[in-house]
Amino acid sequence: MTKASAYVKEIQAKIHEKDQHQPEFLQAIDEFLPTIVPFLEEHPEYIESNILALLTEPERFIQFRVPWQDDQGNWQVNRGYRIQFNSAMGPYKGGLRFHPSVNLSILKFLAFEQIFKNSLTGLPIGGGKGGSDFDPKGKSDAEVMRFCQSFMTELSKHIGPDLDVPAGDIGVGGREIGYLFGAYKRLKQYDAGILTGKPLDFWGSKNRTEATGYGAVYFVKHLLTDLGETFEGKKAIVSGSGNVAIYAIEKLQELGAIPVTCSDSSGFIYDKDGIDLALLKEIKEVKRERLTAYAKERPSAEYHEGASVWDFDTPAELAFPCATQNEIDLSQAKRAKANGVRVVSEGANMPSSLEAAEYFIEEGIFYCPGKAANAGGVAVSALEMSQNSQRLQWEKAEVDAKLDDIMKSIYEACRDTAETFDQKNNFMLGANVAGFEKVAKAMFAQGLV
Ligand code: NDP
Repeated sequence: MTKASAYVKEIQAKIHEKDQHQPEFLQAIDEFLPTIVPFLEEHPEYIESNILALLTEPERFIQFRVPWQDDQGNWQVNRGYRIQFNSAMGPYKGGLRFHPSVNLSILKFLAFEQIFKNSLTGLPIGGGKGGSDFDPKGKSDAEVMRFCQSFMTELSKHIGPDLDVPAGDIGVGGREIGYLFGAYKRLKQYDAGILTGKPLDFWGSKNRTEATGYGAVYFVKHLLTDLGETFEGKKAIVSGSGNVAIYAIEKLQELGAIPVTCSDSSGFIYDKDGIDLALLKEIKEVKRERLTAYAKERPSAEYHEGASVWDFDTPAELAFPCATQNEIDLSQAKRAKANGVRVVSEGANMPSSLEAAEYFIEEGIFYCPGKAANAGGVAVSALEMSQNSQRLQWEKAEVDAKLDDIMKSIYEACRDTAETFDQKNNFMLGANVAGFEKVAKAMFAQGLV
């Protein structure tokens, strides 16, 4: 065993002992650390300085009570969190997730991934994540507003344009960001730079809503260009029907692909004629209804209640998991391959289990990991920060061109780094090493802090 692999194993063992009740965080650690061994072998200074012990421990973690009143007048309490994981590259940056499953383990995995994703964008942002176990689903606008106001009453003490700049994630879209922003303004002052993903009327960036989904497609566009192919006529399995899924579908259609599925936590749609995007947007973004409404309106669609889209057989070359973590296990990965899937681009964070991701790589499927493929959202968030500092709002085409360029450079960093370590097409290794390299260099230069 080399010195680097012994060091990585020792760090993994310590984290498994310390954080044994945090399965998602352990999964992210187990996916990440072994892939950077070849890099550490060439950089003994990071072993000698014990950089991984620093890197895997959040700089700060804030947990707070979020009291709010429901429409019946009852007092409710949820748990709020913010993980400020790493600021070597800049202010903490990462979304807020409102979902009943939110806990410390899930937020630590998301914040850890965010460090390397943000580094890959080449923009000056550190890694963080936060949220609450509050479920906005089925709540009235007034309840969501009261919750957001209470959440921000505490969070406002810990964020700022040069300190920590949250954005949206699952359950936190334009409505929630609007209420959070209003609450911050009332508590402190008008400061456009404290949140990203803001609506366009108050200094949001054009193309931010679209950025994550578009970015996951742009990543694949650059891969296909390398292979001498295009999207034309390629079928795609997409999961989710939220922000990321909708705009992945939009860009796929624009580039000539045919997305035939989408899903929510109650079931999935298979639409043999291709997803009707206008109908999907109307149902999800305007009416905030479930996908059953889509099937009612669209004769070509089948609704599969209670089922996962990854257990469905339909021929497709492309897969875009855009719902949530661990939605694809090993048997579902095998099924995807049997259905003809050649490219998996993760719009969601860690949607493939470690076994599934390793299977894709072993089988020669182009596996584009979330921390690279879905970095478009945070990249445009960082562009929103630049626009806010300049008191300017750039045109959509300008932001889109910058997004495409950033996704191209992320794709190239993954491809080239993998090749440097004789692991052609292993974008997991490529993304992890390329993301880690910059963060480790910055941490090393900043000393033991
Ligand atoms: P949304 O809340 O807009 O949509 C989430 C979608 O995923 C919904 O269709 C939801 O269905 C489904 N979903 C959520 N949880 C589950 C679950 N446990 N089982 C099955 N389906 C589920 O979130 P986003 O689209 O913003 O986020 C999707 C993924 O993309 C997440 O992993 C997020 O971390 C990641 N991401 C998002 C970014 C962004 O800019 N928004 C940036 C980078 C990554 P239902 O309505 O039934 O809950």
